[in-house]
Amino acid sequence: MITQHAIVIGASMGGLLAARALTDYYQQVTVLERDVFPVPGENRKGVPQGRHAHGLLARGREVLEQLFPGFTQELEAQGALATDILQQLHWFANGGYLSKTKSELNGLFVSRPLLEAWIRQRLLLLPNVQALENCDVLGLVTTADPVQVTGVRFIQRNEGNTEEILKADLVVDTTGRNSRTPMWLEALGYEKPLEEKVKVNVCYTTRMYRRQPEHLQGDLGAVIEPSQPNWRGGVILAQENSHWIVSIAGYMGDHTPMDEQGFLEFAKSISAQDIYEVIKNAEPLSELLNYQFSSSQRRHYEQLKRFPEGYLVFGDAISSFNPIYGQGMTVAAVEALALQDCLGQGVDHLAPRFFKAASKIVDIPWSIAVGGDFRIPQVEGKPTPMVRFLNWYRCKLQIAARRDPVLAIAFLKVVNLMAAPSSLIQPQIALRVLLGNIFT
Ligand SMILES: Cc1cc2nc3c(=O)[nH]c(=O)nc-3n(C[C@H](O)[C@H](O)[C@H](O)COP(=O)(O)OP(=O)(O)OC[C@H]3O[C@@H](n4cnc5c(N)ncnc54)[C@H](O)[C@@H]3O)c2cc1C
Repeated sequence: MITQHAIVIGASMGGLLAARALTDYYQQVTVLERDVFPVPGENRKGVPQGRHAHGLLARGREVLEQLFPGFTQELEAQGALATDILQQLHWFANGGYLSKTKSELNGLFVSRPLLEAWIRQRLLLLPNVQALENCDVLGLVTTADPVQVTGVRFIQRNEGNTEEILKADLVVDTTGRNSRTPMWLEALGYEKPLEEKVKVNVCYTTRMYRRQPEHLQGDLGAVIEPSQPNWRGGVILAQENSHWIVSIAGYMGDHTPMDEQGFLEFAKSISAQDIYEVIKNAEPLSELLNYQFSSSQRRHYEQLKRFPEGYLVFGDAISSFNPIYGQGMTVAAVEALALQDCLGQGVDHLAPRFFKAASKIVDIPWSIAVGGDFRIPQVEGKPTPMVRFLNWYRCKLQIAARRDPVLAIAFLKVVNLMAAPSSLIQPQIALRVLLGNIFT
């Protein structure tokens, strides 16, 4: 143990994973969450996205297994499905399906509330963690100079309670994309981080259905990528209790109607019919719900010259990507490993070291999500010539990957954050792409 007490603000996936990393280095870790923790498997107000399709990428599952040994097996026992993301999924892109083959890229399909509840329960079994729920963090406490964060001001949200202070050696903000850290920094006389935004104006519409064995020929899901000329897309993923979760989406104001018929017609208008074929006759188990996602955003904390000691920002509070790429939870998991690495080298200059590592982690999913979104003509911003080339190349690769399993696996390794995008332009892959497009 290198030091005494760490506070984590927020107990969603980012907060739980940051707290897990801290437990190896702090005598006591306290997680403060605004919501009351729900019954396992139920949704809660502070995570509205939890009602929409969440898939855990192969890299995320691998890291969670490392942080919580037995993760996959224990969740499988509760109905989660460990899934070969190529062999058990229909992946449609650029007018065709990726070649379906065993890939060893095993993600996890489970509802977001069950996943979060399982991690919370496992975390809270550790002897040096406690969680204060129903607890709203109002601001930071610092030394007078104010070079050091020394705790937080918070209020228990029961009637009649007054503001309290909790002291700590380290405070980590994991309050998501609406984090108030930029505002808090400014009030303390620090610069705010540069904020990059790429507007996508995506609206997800989601509904649950009962899953039958004959659906999708027994497979566990489908991903229909938006691609030229049809920028609508969607996913259908198997979940516990023989449920499907279906989320479909359009970009830049092309929103799904919120009535039964309109939803079905929108699903039919997507470039492949896998989702429509299931839901046209399946038994709906929920109402239609939507989620508006305005922009992918990234805060460049790694560029700040001054930052208070004893303070960090983590997860979606640093970067939040268009969810169609399914990356956020995996990025938080990989950041937890980076935090452990940084703490392994002590607490001196922790913030600049962690932000540098987090920025490297974010670079790849950011380039995948934002680069991919630049294919859509209405998405504002100027893609670099390299992004334009990669988008053209990705299209050619996906065409060749319809018949070439090696290319399909190489592509999904990148999507699952198991390999860098540069792996796709290595000569042996580029040659297969070329040959695959000559002999189509
Ligand atoms: C529609 C949608 C679908 C998605 N699908 C996927 C997917 O398929 N795969 C994937 O990996 N990721 C997905 N994501 C992203 C994923 O949900 C997030 O990356 C993940 O939840 C990590 O976020 P976080 O914990 O950093 O922040 P959040 O999940 O936003 O959590 C913030 C937490 O902080 C709490 N909080 C806020 N303010 C305070 C305060 N003042 N005091 C105390 N507590 C506070 C909130 O109650 C909440 O619990 C999706 C996102 C969306 C929007």
